[in-house]
Amino acid sequence: MEYGWPAELRDLARQARAFVDESTADLYATDDGWLVGYSREFTRRLAARGWIGMTWPTEAGGDGRPEIERFVVTEQLLLGGAPMAGSFFPDRQIGPVLLTYGTPEQKRRWLPAMRRGEVQWCVGMSEPDAGSDVAAIATTAVRDGDTFVVNGQKTWTSGAFEADWCYLICRTDRTQPAHRGMSELIVDMASPGITVERITDASGDAHFCEVFFDDVRVPVDHLVGELNNSFGQTMRQLEHERGGIDRLASNQRLYRDMVAEADTGDPLVRQEIARLEAGYQIGRHMVLRNVLRQAPLAQYSAITKTFCTEHEQRVAAFVCRVAGADAMTWGRVARNVVYAPAYTIMGGTTQILRNVMGERILGLPREPRPSGNRP
Ligand SMILES: Cc1cc2nc3c(=O)[nH]c(=O)nc-3n(C[C@H](O)[C@H](O)[C@H](O)COP(=O)(O)OP(=O)(O)OC[C@H]3O[C@@H](n4cnc5c(N)ncnc54)[C@H](O)[C@@H]3O)c2cc1C
Repeated sequence: MEYGWPAELRDLARQARAFVDESTADLYATDDGWLVGYSREFTRRLAARGWIGMTWPTEAGGDGRPEIERFVVTEQLLLGGAPMAGSFFPDRQIGPVLLTYGTPEQKRRWLPAMRRGEVQWCVGMSEPDAGSDVAAIATTAVRDGDTFVVNGQKTWTSGAFEADWCYLICRTDRTQPAHRGMSELIVDMASPGITVERITDASGDAHFCEVFFDDVRVPVDHLVGELNNSFGQTMRQLEHERGGIDRLASNQRLYRDMVAEADTGDPLVRQEIARLEAGYQIGRHMVLRNVLRQAPLAQYSAITKTFCTEHEQRVAAFVCRVAGADAMTWGRVARNVVYAPAYTIMGGTTQILRNVMGERILGLPREPRPSGNRP
């Protein structure tokens, strides 16, 4: 049996890697580049290469390329440390959500600018009292003539400081049960009444933000999908967030650099490398099952994210051991060690995903809860 890629995918991988190396040479490359690497210039270069929205259908302005090609390109971008955060949210989830739920007018309005790499987006879902339990959100949007008036606060909003648009999850009917009465709006981040404050995390990075909405007016035609009925839509978006190669390869560039420095004369180190190499391949196959639609995404993305992000944490522990005392100096290794807990939190925590596996896949009894958890 032949497990290797066909020649055209191997060639695509080579092109993608050469592209990252060339196009970051005068910019910068970074570990976790899909989340912390914001460069409008890199986004423009990626768009010019045709690699934002490459799988979107041609009638929606995409190239209609197979998902496997996006996988090949994305993996190389991650391994090369591409500062791709500016295009990743539109490419991974907001574009696909608009393709599924947006009106023809919304697709015409927002997708082409994403494809051209002209705009950056953030996702306004979590709030100070609503993280795992997204149905607990309190940010409201109240209809007033041709606009919704938005009030409330989002937190941990990655890239809000740079974003042109926010994909906002909000409450449009407070009289309904928690997971009803929710809607999704597209909000212009230049609107009066929006205040963005950056949060510096333990690693010193400040990609995520608090976003305050104070009587922000949003035209009613910015509503995506059904009014008061977006919970299912939000869950679909989270599935796009969970099943991809970005959940496995965030610190793989660092891992490869540190393997080159590891004492491979030590059999224990060799065993650890063997375990991590096998882990990467297992995670990659899980992602590929999602990519090739060989598994139901709703459930399998929970399994994939759990395994893959725990692998990323094993990588962080390994690079720390390889660096030894040098890990205490403030550099790539230290940064990864303090950042690593985030892998199993963002996009749905491991505990929540284990609940999904237990209840939805294994059919274990479900604890009664006051409101719908995420998911
Ligand atoms: C790097 C990073 C980037 C992020 N980017 C964004 C973004 O762009 N936009 C956005 O909206 N959000 C973003 N988030 C927020 C993220 O989605 C939330 O942090 C996450 O959903 C967890 O919510 P919480 O932090 O409120 O923790 P909580 O929900 O308060 O959970 C606290 C702990 O309790 C556990 N727990 C909660 N409920 C249960 C349960 N029912 N069963 C078992 N255990 C439970 C959790 O697993 C966790 O360990 C980001 C987070 C990180 C770390």
